[in-house]
Amino acid sequence: MSAWADGMRETPFWHEAAPPEPASGSDAPDEVDVAVVGAGYTGLSCALALASAGRRVVVFEAGAPGAGASTRNGGMIGWGHRAKIETLAKSYGREAAVEMLSEARNSLDFTLAMIEHLPGKAMYRRTGRFLGAGSARHFDALARWAEAEAPVLGMEVEVVPRAVQGRHIATDLYHGGLYLPQHGGLHPALFHAGLLASAREAGAVVVDHCPVTAIAGAPGAWRIGHGRGETWASEVVYAGNGYTGGGAGPFPDIARRLVPIPSTIIATEPMGENRVGALFPGGNMIVETRATHGYFRPDPWGERILFGGRASLNVLPERESARRLRDMMLSVFPELGEVRLTHSWKGFVAFTFDGVPHAGQLGGVWHACGYNGSGVAMAPYLGWKIARRILGLEDGATGFDKAEFRAQALYRGNPWFLSVLELWMKLQDRREGVAAIRRRS
Ligand SMILES: Cc1cc2nc3c(=O)[nH]c(=O)nc-3n(C[C@H](O)[C@H](O)[C@H](O)COP(=O)(O)OP(=O)(O)OC[C@H]3O[C@@H](n4cnc5c(N)ncnc54)[C@H](O)[C@@H]3O)c2cc1C
Repeated sequence: MSAWADGMRETPFWHEAAPPEPASGSDAPDEVDVAVVGAGYTGLSCALALASAGRRVVVFEAGAPGAGASTRNGGMIGWGHRAKIETLAKSYGREAAVEMLSEARNSLDFTLAMIEHLPGKAMYRRTGRFLGAGSARHFDALARWAEAEAPVLGMEVEVVPRAVQGRHIATDLYHGGLYLPQHGGLHPALFHAGLLASAREAGAVVVDHCPVTAIAGAPGAWRIGHGRGETWASEVVYAGNGYTGGGAGPFPDIARRLVPIPSTIIATEPMGENRVGALFPGGNMIVETRATHGYFRPDPWGERILFGGRASLNVLPERESARRLRDMMLSVFPELGEVRLTHSWKGFVAFTFDGVPHAGQLGGVWHACGYNGSGVAMAPYLGWKIARRILGLEDGATGFDKAEFRAQALYRGNPWFLSVLELWMKLQDRREGVAAIRRRS
């Protein structure tokens, strides 16, 4: 039997309920106060705040609004810093490190409040998240983090020993884990649609299918070359996150500070609420510590499983990444061998060299980016913060202001080292006692 349903789509499952807008062919303004590049959560949140304050704002988007990660993600909302206090403290001191990592909590509070005010339904539910340990060593590290760091950062967390993890997930794969009750799930494309409608309502102009190809000038007088000609702007905001266009793109300074990495998701055919509910007894979002970094959940209707992960750090043909993800899914739920897949898609996330996001100004261009794979809460928050800074308001400051947005020698925005990194991560998993994923098809 084939693993693929007839007519399997290589587009996000989320687009069924919130399809991308068709190309509008709309004109771009000749002159604005602020030009934002990218119509995902960051750009639209920034545009909403600026337009609400009376600024003339245009948002340029290379594809349809939301073409990037913002309508492709797993819809898990919570915190997800990869950096640890002690690591950051080595460079910035403990106080600054705590301030940075506490922004995760602030971003969650901010974005949940924002969702309440948006039109439409983002289908948000506070579901809690279970973080499954891929090995006994991973479990020990999680338990240490829960004791030492989580309380300092204001994060509620419960250590879940292996014997009782069945409350959260019907698998023997994990060696216990953590339960994070403040986390939740939403429909990312419906959330994006609400944000887009709000930004437009406030007066922001969104110009779709219009890539920005060049910028020249300085704050006060930027000349922006794009798919419809030219626009002058006093300020420019880069909100393209993992879609930098590499070193040859229009933002080379930012590109050399971000590492774009593909993340892939598959959706199963509808399996029925009872079957899905039995696999996810707590209805939680699930994330794991294996290097392949599976993250999975029931869809918002509780009918299917959406299973995401790093099929590879490199871009693979869609069917190959779907096959690898299916193998990962079967390593968690071996009983799903006969369940077929209806969707498979990918998007790009942006990693930073220090593991924390950055929001500020580089060469006169504002930016908020580098969410390291966890931007559903952070991107709207930092987009709003950048807008507050452009407006000259003190509350635009963030804990990340103290962190240097680092580049690396020999890196210009095209990550040539990912195959080596992938190999290293696999070896690391083996050393840490993580079970290998068996190839099923
Ligand atoms: C598969 C996947 C799963 C994920 N799952 C989760 C999750 O469950 N929870 C979580 O917290 N985070 C998750 N993330 C991360 C999260 O989706 C992102 O961090 C967030 O959406 C970033 O928003 P953004 O607006 O900054 O960038 P994006 O939504 O990527 O938007 C950037 C936009 O900029 C446009 N652009 C770039 N350059 C130009 C240019 N020169 N001209 C015009 N337009 C340009 C792009 O076309 C793109 O539409 C996931 C990401 C992916 C890809």
